[in-house]
Amino acid sequence: MAGLRLLAIHAHPDDESSKAAATMARYVDEGNRVKVLTCTGGERGDVLNPAMDRPVVKENIGAIRREEMANAIKALGVEHEWLGYVDSGLPEGDPLPPLPEGSFALADTEEVVQKVVKVIREFRPHVIITYDENGGYPHPDHLKVHEVSMIAWEKSGEQDYHPELGQAWTPLKLYYTHGFIRQRMQMFHDLLVEQGKESPYAEILDRWKANQADTMARVTTQVNVERWFDRRDAALKAHATQIDPAGTFFATPVEVQRRLWPTEEFELAKTRVSTSLPEDDLFAGIEKALD
Ligand SMILES: [Zn+2]
Repeated sequence: MAGLRLLAIHAHPDDESSKAAATMARYVDEGNRVKVLTCTGGERGDVLNPAMDRPVVKENIGAIRREEMANAIKALGVEHEWLGYVDSGLPEGDPLPPLPEGSFALADTEEVVQKVVKVIREFRPHVIITYDENGGYPHPDHLKVHEVSMIAWEKSGEQDYHPELGQAWTPLKLYYTHGFIRQRMQMFHDLLVEQGKESPYAEILDRWKANQADTMARVTTQVNVERWFDRRDAALKAHATQIDPAGTFFATPVEVQRRLWPTEEFELAKTRVSTSLPEDDLFAGIEKALD
């Protein structure tokens, strides 16, 4: 199916490349419009790639991340918009420090919802991708993205909700993206161990065992993206300050991923069309756009 629109709402630049990136590239190639809405500029992100960890990079992190984002967007072939908020940073320590004033997580929820509704009414997506109630990762900005996405999903189609934000538009499906699947990581880990190689997954898998969260039990939809892994990797590499080339993202060669785990995973959280689960297409059940 072509001619449909998909909106992915993310907290920081690089989230779009580490979550559902190959799926977005696939839908673009198949003739749909895909837009990424990034809520913050990632100004408080750490430099996670040792090769980039230099004072000049840290001083200019905001500008550098904008440039990285532009390159990632080009690699994926998607459209992009900034919502304009400031990264809250990941609070660390015990007790946790308060969130910095003026940051996204502290922004007035109603104000953020209105901005998101404006984007939805302009772009008119049939499908929205966002994070689950845990943010997919316990970062205050990710939790905020979940909160405002769910309200915007309800409000954007209501005629009398702030008509000045544009003509009402009702999205048809909303998904949570599930990038961290334990079974997938275990498979990649076991293969490296079998080959006598060092596995960067070991530490994460250990932590996982402790809380036993089984994301796979929530997955309703697996999209085959084996032909789009290279595009995802190009987008990830564009975020040079954020992605360690020696880390988990690149520890398993693309051809092995194609063989062992060729899909990206989603959870259908809301739908206004009928569809049968499990699905292999985020647009399943949606008739070709009539407008
Ligand atoms: Zn993030």
